[in-house]
Amino acid sequence: MIEVIEADFVVVGAGSAGCVMATRLSEDPATRVVLLEAGGQDDNRWIHIPLGFGKTFADPSVNWCYETEPDPGANGRRIFWPRGKVLGGSSSINGMVYIRGQHEDFDLWRQMGCKGWSATDVLPYFKRAEHQVRGPDDWHSTGGPLVVSDVPDKHEICEAFIRACNDLGYPSNPDFNGATQDGVGYHQTTTTNGKRCSTAKGYLHPVMDRPNLRVITGALAQRITFAGRRATGVDFTQDNLPFTVRVRREVILCGGAINSPQLLLLSGVGPQAQLAAHGIEVVQHSPGVGQAMQDHYSAPIKLKCRYPITVNDVMQSNLKKLRTGLEYYLLRRGPMAAISAQVALFARTRPELATPDIKMSISIFSADRPQDGLHKWSGFTIIVYQLRPESRGEIRLKSANPQDPPAMIPNYLATETDRRTITDGLMLGRRVLSTPHLQHYVAEEFLPGPAVVTDAQMLEHARNCGGTVFHPTSTCKMGIDTMAVVDPELLVIGIDGLRVVDASVMPTVVSGNTNAATIMIAEKAADLVRRRAPLAVAA
Ligand SMILES: Cc1cc2nc3c(=O)[nH]c(=O)nc-3n(C[C@H](O)[C@H](O)[C@H](O)COP(=O)(O)OP(=O)(O)OC[C@H]3O[C@@H](n4cnc5c(N)ncnc54)[C@H](O)[C@@H]3O)c2cc1C
Repeated sequence: MIEVIEADFVVVGAGSAGCVMATRLSEDPATRVVLLEAGGQDDNRWIHIPLGFGKTFADPSVNWCYETEPDPGANGRRIFWPRGKVLGGSSSINGMVYIRGQHEDFDLWRQMGCKGWSATDVLPYFKRAEHQVRGPDDWHSTGGPLVVSDVPDKHEICEAFIRACNDLGYPSNPDFNGATQDGVGYHQTTTTNGKRCSTAKGYLHPVMDRPNLRVITGALAQRITFAGRRATGVDFTQDNLPFTVRVRREVILCGGAINSPQLLLLSGVGPQAQLAAHGIEVVQHSPGVGQAMQDHYSAPIKLKCRYPITVNDVMQSNLKKLRTGLEYYLLRRGPMAAISAQVALFARTRPELATPDIKMSISIFSADRPQDGLHKWSGFTIIVYQLRPESRGEIRLKSANPQDPPAMIPNYLATETDRRTITDGLMLGRRVLSTPHLQHYVAEEFLPGPAVVTDAQMLEHARNCGGTVFHPTSTCKMGIDTMAVVDPELLVIGIDGLRVVDASVMPTVVSGNTNAATIMIAEKAADLVRRRAPLAVAA
C-alpha cells in the first residue's frame, strides 16, 4: 500500500527557491508544509568551503551532472551542466557570486505584462532576503537569512585587472547591486564568515525543527496528481518505495529550470504533441513548457602567469597547501575562502546600448575543465559572457520515465547579435590584458593563443572552448502571452492549485548571475501564496 502524507503545501525541490518557500510558508504554525528533495543532506564538507566549488562541481553525490545534447553553436559538443542535487540545490554548489541583475531587467518583465515584477516592485524582496554585512542603505538591508559579504582578500592580479579597466575608461563600481551595474569592481558573495551561505544554510537549517515542516530527502517526485484540472498532490519515491503527498492547498514546484518543466511534462502539462509522443495523458495543453530557455554561454582567455602567485601554485606545493589550510581554519581567509571569480567588469560592446551587455570576470586559476583539476603551471583566466542572449533553447522529454534526464537543447549562439557580442567581448578582454597592469603578469596567452587574430577565428574559439556559466532559466516562463506557462502570480495557467517558483519562471534571464533573483522570486511568491500585501515587507 502507498503511504499517504497529508499537508497544506508540498514544495518539490529544496534548492535556492524551495528552501525559501518551505521556510516562509511554515512560519505560520497552522500551515503544514512538506519539502521533497531528490538529493541528500548537505553534509559534504566541500559544500561549505568556498574553494570546495571545484570538488562538488562534478560530484554525483551532490550534483545531477547533466550534459546537454550536442549543440551546433558549440560546434557539436555536449556541454556539462552541473546542478545541485542536495539540500540547498544549486545554491549549495554554485560560485557564490551575489549579483541581482539590472533594474532594467525587471522593468522589462513588467513591460512584458508581469504586473508586480518591476524593479521597484522586486527591490523589497531582494532586501527581505538579505543580510548585508556593509549595513543597510537604499539598496540593501540587514537581518535577512542570506548573508552577503565582501571578498576577504584582494589579489594583486584582481587589483591589476581593475586598474587596467580604469585605464580603458571603465569606472570603478563598489556595488554592482546598487544604483548601477556599470563598471569594474569586486563581487560580493553569498558567504558568512568565510563559509558558503546556501539557502539550506541561511533559511532551512535554522527552522528544520518546526513541527509543521517535514523535509524528506532522497525523495524523487515522479508526477503531480490531479482531480480534473486541480493539482491534488505529488507522487514520489524514496528508496524505490512509492509515496504520495496529498495537499489541501497547493503544489509548488521548485525543481529548477531543468526539472520543473520535466515534472510538468511527465504530469501531462505541456505541448500536446510532445506528451502524445510519450504516451502521456494531457491534463493541460501548455505549449510553452520547456520552451524559451535561455542560458549564459561563456568563453575564456587563459594565461600563463609570470609569477607563482596563483591558486594553481598553491595546489602544486604541500607547504603552501598546509599554510592555506591553516590560514582558512584560523582566520577564514586566503585561497580557501576565495570564490572562483572575485572581480568583474560589466561593459557595453556597442556604445549605443543603454546598459552593459557583457560581463567579464577574472579567476586566479586556470584549468582545462574544473573537474580535471588545475594546471600544473601558474595560470589565470578571463571569461566573458553576453548578459542578454537572444538565442532560446529547449527542455524536452526523452522518455516518460522520471529517472531519465530530459533532453537539454541550449541552442547557443544562434543569432548574429549573440555571435557578435561574444566575439567583441573576447576582443575587449584582449585589450584589457594588453594594458601594462596585466602585461606585468602575463607570460603567455595559451588560449585562444596568438594565432587567433580575426573576429571569425575568435568566434570559432568561442564555439570550440566555450561553456555555460550555469544560468539556465525561462523554461516555465511567467507572462501573459500564449507561450507563458505561469501567470504573474506564478500559477500554472489552466490549472488550479499549482505554482512554479524557481529560475524557470524568469521571463528573460537577468543580466548576471541567477541565484539572487531566484531567491527574490521565492520571497515574493511566498507573499503571493499567503496573500500578504507587498507593503508588509520591511524596507
Ligand atoms: C556550478 C554552478 C555555479 C553557479 N554559480 C553561481 C553564482 O556564482 N552566482 C549565482 O547567482 N548563481 C550561480 N549559479 C546559478 C544559481 O545557483 C541557480 O540559478 C539557482 O541556484 C537556481 O535555483 P533553483 O531554485 O531554480 O534551482 P536549484 O537550486 O537547482 O534547485 C532545484 C532543486 O530541486 C531538486 N529536484 C529537482 N527535481 C526533483 C524531483 N523530481 N524531485 C525532488 N527534488 C527535485 C534538485 O535536486 C534541487 O535541489 C550557479 C549554478 C551552478 C550549478
